[in-house]
Amino acid sequence: MKLSRQFTVFGSAIFCVVIFSLYLMLDRGHLDYPRGPRQEGSFPQGQLSMLQEKIDHLERLLAENNEIISNIRDSVINLSESVEDGSRSSQGNFSQGAGLRPLPSQPSLQVDPKDCLFASQRGSQRPDVQMLDVYHLMPFDNPDGGVWKQGFDIKYEANEWDTEPLQVFVVPHSHNDPGWLKTFNDYFRDKTQYIFNNMVLKLKEDSSRKFMWSEISYLSKWWDIIDIPKKEAVKSLLQNGQLEIVTGGWVMPDEATAHYFALIDQLIEGHQWLEKNLGVKPRSGWAIDPFGHSPTMAYLLKRAGFSHMLIQRVHYAVKKHFALHKTLEFYWRQNWDQGSVTDILCHMMPFYSYDIPHTCGPDPKICCQFDFKRLPGGRFGCPWGILPEAISPGNVHVRAQLLLDQYRKKSKLFRTKVVLAPLGDDFRYSEYSEWDLQFRNYEQLFNYMNSQPQFNVKIQFGTLSDYFDALDKADAAERRNGQSTFPVVSGDFFTYADRDDHYWSGYFTSRPFYKRMDRIMESHLRAAEILYYFALKQAQKHRIHKFLSSPYYTALTEARRNLGLFQHHDAITGTAKDWVVVDYGNRLFHSLLGLEKIIGDSAFLLILKDKLMYESHSSDSFLEMDLKQKSQDSLPQKTIIQLSKKPRYLVVFNPLEQDRNSVVSICVSSPKVQVFSDSGKPVEVQVSAVWNDAITVSGQAYEISFLAHTPPLGLTVYKILESDNSNSHLADYLVYNGKTEESEIFKIKSMPNTKEAITLENSFLMVQFDQSGLMEKMITKEDGKHHKVKVHFSWYGTTSRRDKSGAYLFLPDGNAQPYVYMTLPLVRVTHGKIYSEVICFFEHVTHKVRLYHVHGIEGQSVEISNIVDIRNLYNREIAMRISSEINSQNKFYTDLNGYQIQPRVTMNKLPLQANVYPMTTMAYVQDAERRLTLLSAQSLGVSSLISGRIEVIMDRRLMQDDNRGLGQGVHDNKITANLFRILLERRSVTDMREEINSVGYPSLLSHVTSSFLNHPVFPMTVKAEFSPTLELLNEFPLLVSPFPCDIHLVNMRTIQSKVGSGYSDEAALILHRIGFDCQFPSRDTGLLCSTTQGKMLVQKIFNKFTIESLTPSSLSLMHSPPDAQNISEISLSPMEISTFRIRLR
Ligand SMILES: [Zn+2]
Repeated sequence: MKLSRQFTVFGSAIFCVVIFSLYLMLDRGHLDYPRGPRQEGSFPQGQLSMLQEKIDHLERLLAENNEIISNIRDSVINLSESVEDGSRSSQGNFSQGAGLRPLPSQPSLQVDPKDCLFASQRGSQRPDVQMLDVYHLMPFDNPDGGVWKQGFDIKYEANEWDTEPLQVFVVPHSHNDPGWLKTFNDYFRDKTQYIFNNMVLKLKEDSSRKFMWSEISYLSKWWDIIDIPKKEAVKSLLQNGQLEIVTGGWVMPDEATAHYFALIDQLIEGHQWLEKNLGVKPRSGWAIDPFGHSPTMAYLLKRAGFSHMLIQRVHYAVKKHFALHKTLEFYWRQNWDQGSVTDILCHMMPFYSYDIPHTCGPDPKICCQFDFKRLPGGRFGCPWGILPEAISPGNVHVRAQLLLDQYRKKSKLFRTKVVLAPLGDDFRYSEYSEWDLQFRNYEQLFNYMNSQPQFNVKIQFGTLSDYFDALDKADAAERRNGQSTFPVVSGDFFTYADRDDHYWSGYFTSRPFYKRMDRIMESHLRAAEILYYFALKQAQKHRIHKFLSSPYYTALTEARRNLGLFQHHDAITGTAKDWVVVDYGNRLFHSLLGLEKIIGDSAFLLILKDKLMYESHSSDSFLEMDLKQKSQDSLPQKTIIQLSKKPRYLVVFNPLEQDRNSVVSICVSSPKVQVFSDSGKPVEVQVSAVWNDAITVSGQAYEISFLAHTPPLGLTVYKILESDNSNSHLADYLVYNGKTEESEIFKIKSMPNTKEAITLENSFLMVQFDQSGLMEKMITKEDGKHHKVKVHFSWYGTTSRRDKSGAYLFLPDGNAQPYVYMTLPLVRVTHGKIYSEVICFFEHVTHKVRLYHVHGIEGQSVEISNIVDIRNLYNREIAMRISSEINSQNKFYTDLNGYQIQPRVTMNKLPLQANVYPMTTMAYVQDAERRLTLLSAQSLGVSSLISGRIEVIMDRRLMQDDNRGLGQGVHDNKITANLFRILLERRSVTDMREEINSVGYPSLLSHVTSSFLNHPVFPMTVKAEFSPTLELLNEFPLLVSPFPCDIHLVNMRTIQSKVGSGYSDEAALILHRIGFDCQFPSRDTGLLCSTTQGKMLVQKIFNKFTIESLTPSSLSLMHSPPDAQNISEISLSPMEISTFRIRLR
């Protein structure tokens, strides 16, 4: 019985292999036929090179097929094993005999059953503290704690330190925001440069003085203007440990709205600068001001070689809970970690703030008296009423006792007798007098305390790592059976509240225009980095001097730095002054223009048939981007491509590591158009109207859309020309609730008001809309089931209480009210061959739902794009709600930094605003049968206040400050675009126990859809004047075959040279093996890849480029493993992000 079943499985699988290979051959078959009609003279020379191209292409296909077949063979072996071993058949539906199913119409995604184990094992070994549990436990009752208002009374016995003295590290620091109330440059000019200058002078006066720095953006700016003796002085301060660089990123990034691509990039930028200029390697993380903390940051620091980190802005009730249980110092372990490899020791600061009144101990009234910048006569006082006293022999005894009492109380919240007492604040130590005041007064206190045996204290200045070193020592001494004294914590620290019901969930959405622009910038930077490195190698090989290797590297560096700067916790968060926002916007905008040029010129060099042709043309850009943004605060617009009878080249770059069928839409000057594929075959084209506004059709421009097949990381060339025998398909229009102007070209039909639903339909889905043009229902064709998926808009006002919503805070006036409209909006329905869509025009939102007629990934989800304009509103926030009948109860899932999924529970004991969480790339709700995912192309705030519903806040306009120092509201709103996809998936879960788990994973389809959304293809046209004379390759894939479906190329970033300002021969290859959930159908997903247990053979990665060397490195290139050597196989664990140094030839 068992044998025959095995035989059937094996037999069916073999059959699949054959059919699959046949399919691939047919699918690519057209490439093997002689070229279709081509313009005479387009091949003036080189029939041979054409042949060579074809052979190369065939070779590539062969390699690809071999790869697939070997993967399938592995899968079949695994499959038969798992059938044999009945106990394993519950691990996802792939092991349940996929071969027994009827043959799929498309090749199935090939997932190695072993690759499903990770997600099915569901999360970490039980940590000591799981944040989800803590939220269930905590009462959130906010009682008055006395002097420590949000805490409790701390008591101690006088003899507690008799046997082991208290060890105190007073850690001077200065928090420098790279832009907030002033721009980055203005802060540097007015404050930061003086901090550095005085630091050198004042630290040199006494070697026991210490200082720390974290923002490399500032340090590098200062470095550029100082002389060599000063540089030497800084180096010696670093060498003797007086100065420490903590974290060493370009900025101290926000951890809620930043994507891990940008988090890594700014960390590398900072670390590369440090390596080159100072030769120091930071060891400890320091994040005192980001508004809530993400475990993603902990993971990235761990991967960068850090062993310790510090966080500060955590919900006051969580701090109190952690203080009560002495868990303020803990090993932070990733939710998904099934061992302990991600553990990093984390110190959570216990009190309200990182300023001096809140860092010496629980009583700010006392601690404030030890901030000697506030001495009487200065500009600052103490809001608690008692001013500091300068230390003198007359008062030192009393003052020392007073301060020591605070240190002792603070130490009672921790498990060791080592105390960290940070001494600093925003932009502190800018005047030399402040250095003197703080250092001299503390020196007197230290001398006195250390000289009094009955105090049992050893106190000194220190840096963060001095503290952590002492902590490690204390931990080592107290270890029992090798067990650390510190507990293990898993989970995250969102949503932050600093007092009462003041939750910082507003900033998840504030200034959404720039949150979207940030993501666009990220995809451009990534594409430019990858293309640049390959183009650089080609330019070197063919000695192309006109390729601007050096200026482009400079522009890339500038773009990295501007993107890095924008990750700062007052930049991407939308919490800076209006003009500072404009400064960030200009930086992003100018870098975006620079990146477009790099992408265009690099792509051009790569796709050029005869590379030497590059040399003979002027170095002005050859390729033009399809999208152009005119200014820092305007939306990107499509350029109109002028067509003629002579064909123009359109080069499409697929920046992803997967084969891709994506719809390309461009604007052209004529509706009579033909598009030819790389093989010369005419391509099906949809011609749609370009609308000037809701009702007028443009007479000058037409949109053409077609399905572009692009190889992984590949360039594909299409030709477009004006042609009378165009067989393009004109889109048809239906208009509801109003009339539009007529068109000479398009059929536009005004529809009477009927009760009949508006529908869109492709091979996977039917989508129904109500009379307002809002989605109501999705019908999945595979099973014919109807699902309520209702989209509507709603808005929040702000509370009538004194404290109102602002840039940081969300303080709504209760539940959102439905967005009301007196008359039905104009609804315009487009029916086309390539896509169909419904657009409805509300006063504040133009809402578009599009369905692609693609039998692949793009066809499986619905695209939603909104243009939001709330510039005429006051104290309003506008949200989009997606309601379903999914029985998610109070659970939902949001991603953290696009890297991992964090389960959430909506809690009635918390105010509404506490139940809003950051969404970087996705949020989903699910029950046993379905999962509904909202995929996002920008960071926004999201909640699920009702079972089955996802609500996303799209923009907010708030007229007042919310008392967190910004001093203004957010009312510089722009016309803002946001982009989403809705994916409804069938789940095959029988065991609902996993629902209580602390971790979740998207399906592979969801991952890839998210990648498509965040990394769109780049269509570029060759300038009209070049098109007729140039010869381009038909396509140029940079990869031999697609990456395994679960490996994402995060970046390939050219490494700086060791000398000078230029580039080196190497790049940082950054790979992420994503975690995915297998409990979804694998058939018909449109995914053309397989999984390989995280393995990739190095020599089989790149097409036409040879890997000279590939060595493992730490994430930010700071460290090489001791056994680092050239490797021939890459092997990644699930969820792992790894960096390799790579050199191509
Ligand atoms: Zn700050």
